[in-house]
Amino acid sequence: MAKVPVVDPDLCTGCELCVETCPDVFEMEDDLAVITNPAGASEEEIQEAIDNCPVEAITWQE
Ligand code: SF4
Repeated sequence: MAKVPVVDPDLCTGCELCVETCPDVFEMEDDLAVITNPAGASEEEIQEAIDNCPVEAITWQE
């Protein structure tokens, strides 16, 4: 199975950067980012969202 991104709700500050980077993967829900479609962007694009998250709330789950 391919790895999928997960958001730690205890770390997410709701800055919306990941939603701006991958709008088909992440969505804001109650001021927190959630994953709507793990396959909504390429691995490289999701990695960019992971790298840009200021609090490192997004990780890969195998
Ligand atoms: S970039 Fe990180 S802190 Fe910002 S909304 Fe996404 S998961 Fe939350």
